[in-house]
This record gives sequence, structure tokens and C-alpha cells, in this order.
Amino acid sequence: MSPTNEKSDSMDGELVSFVIPVYNEENVLDLLFEKISEEMVALAMPYEILFVNDGSDEPCSRKLDDLSDLHREVKVIHLSRNFGQQAAVHAGLERVSGAAAIVMDADLQDDPSGIPSLIKEWENGCDVVYAIRVNRKENILKKTLFHLFYRSCQLLLPFKLPLDAGNFGLIDKKVIRVVTEMPDCHRYYPGLRSWIGFKQTGVRIERLSRYDDRPRVGFVQLFLLGKHAIFSFSQVPLMLFYLLAALAFTAMLGILAFVLYHKLFTGKAIPGWTSILTTICFFGSINAMGIAIVGEYVWRIYVQVLKRPVYITSKEKGFESKEDV
Ligand code: UDP
Ligand code: MG
Repeated sequence: MSPTNEKSDSMDGELVSFVIPVYNEENVLDLLFEKISEEMVALAMPYEILFVNDGSDEPCSRKLDDLSDLHREVKVIHLSRNFGQQAAVHAGLERVSGAAAIVMDADLQDDPSGIPSLIKEWENGCDVVYAIRVNRKENILKKTLFHLFYRSCQLLLPFKLPLDAGNFGLIDKKVIRVVTEMPDCHRYYPGLRSWIGFKQTGVRIERLSRYDDRPRVGFVQLFLLGKHAIFSFSQVPLMLFYLLAALAFTAMLGILAFVLYHKLFTGKAIPGWTSILTTICFFGSINAMGIAIVGEYVWRIYVQVLKRPVYITSKEKGFESKEDV
């Protein structure tokens, strides 16, 4: 897969698009708009804000339409029902027209004062600039779970998912198309953003507290998303069955040696014990091996059905028919 060749040579005056999923956040939208506008006016850059209304109730839907009537920078995509934050981000990215897109939450946890640092790295030539969340304000349980999740991802995923980086971040137009064309139905945006590669960097931005202390993404949804992040990119859970097969087989050999020793040299072997344990371990290892082999095929089918691109080019040079990109 090749990107479009619009990598910005001069960023001055280029449109920056904001993609913001919204689920019943009517009380914060004015302030959010104000804060983003302040930053963009200070940078003297044109911008558009795409609010993706993820099936909010009437007051929020109306508020979004009002904002759009008041400010020409504001565009609203109303989804037909609540599809979840990740689907809403995808819907927004598919409709942006800027030279870069900044994805952020509506609840002011993603600090708008971090916007200039994202844009600065982009101007320095980075294609993806993600915010590394520092000083999370969530409760200790949530903080610990997030901490464990990102560290597990480092172990399990076949690419480097940056630690403590969520949706908040900027992607260049050149990679927006690549991200949106990724065929995954169940999407984990930070995972896809890392998987595609390109020149990526992180900037440390403080994670603020939620304006209303009422998270719209519950624990169950977070758990499902975390599970999905791992299972959609990692073969390791299936590979564990090879390990289990090896362990069961080794245990079987150990038990066999132990009992043979007692049978032949000490006479202390308990009748029946050997055959039961070795049979259990033997068939245990065969079972685990079978699951591992079936897992290999399941993984291949999954990858084949998904049809993710086999590779993604970031630059081409010296081809007659194309400009260098
Ligand atoms: N959100 C959404 N759809 C949902 C749940 C949440 O679009 O089903 C939006 C929400 O309005 C907010 C962002 O996703 O802008 C993050 O939600 P939340 O703050 O609850 O998530 P957390 O910060 O706890 O991960
Ligand atoms: Mg939040």
C-alpha cells in the first residue's frame, strides 16, 4: 500500500482537522471549542473540528448542531446509534480534509494546550505524533490496569505500541488514508496507528481530569477494547499452547524417569501410579499440541480474511512516472 504524496513541504496555512468522538458531552463542548480555537488562533493556522456524535441523546445532538451553526470551523457527523469511541474516531478520520488530523477526546482529559507541541513535531517532519499521557488523574485501580495493559502489549504485540499513548495525537494526511483503509472491523486506533509505521514520535502531555467525573467508556468496554487490542494483533496467546505441550511432555518424561528409577532400583514404586500420570501428561501434551496447530491455521485464516496490507511504503524515489514522495 502506498500513501498519497501530499506530505507537506510548507505547513504554513495548512488546514488542521480535529476529530473528536462525542457521547453525551453537551456541557463541555463550548469550552472545548474555545480552548482549541485559542490554540489554533495563536498558531495562526486554519482548522476544522469534526465532532462525531456517537449516538448521543437529543440535548447533545442539538448542542453540536448549534455549534456548527455558530462556527464555520465546526462540522458534525451524527452516527445512527452508539457505535463506540473507536468507530466514531474512524468515521471522523474518513471525512477530514486537513493536511493533518488531531484525534482527541471531548472531555478535556486531552489537554488542548498540548496541541502546539504535536504540531511542532509534525512541522519537524514526523508523520505520527502521539501524546504520552503523564500524571493520569484516574483512580489507582484504573491507573494500575492501564499500566499493566501497556506493558503487556509491549510483550505480546509484534510491533512497538508506545507506552501510555491513547487516541490523542496527530497524524499527517499522508498516513490518514493508510489508517482509514486498514480493513479491521473492530478497530483499536492506537494499535493501527503504530502498526502502520512511518516516522513516529511521542510528546509528553499531562492527562487532565475529566470535567464531570463520569466516564462514558465503562470498565467492561475498556476491558473488551484491551482484549481486542491484544487479540487482533498478537499470535502469542495461541503460541502459548506450544509451551503448554512442551511442559506437559517434559513432566511426562520426568515422572517416567522418577518411577522407573523406583521400580528398578528401590522397589518403592506404587502400582498403577506411573501409568495414570504418564498417560495424563502424554495426552495433555498431545491436546495442547493439537490446539497449537489448529491455532496456527486459525491465525492464518484471520490474517487472510482481514487482508491487511502486506507492506506499506513511506517513500518512493527514482521512478520515472512518479514524483519523489
Ligand atoms: N465516547 C464515544 N462513544 C462512547 C463512549 C465515549 O464517542 O460510546 C467519547 C466520549 O464522549 C469522549 C471519548 O469518547 O469524548 C472518551 O470517553 P471517556 O472519557 O469516557 O473515556 P476514557 O477517557 O475514560 O478512556
Ligand atoms: Mg476521558
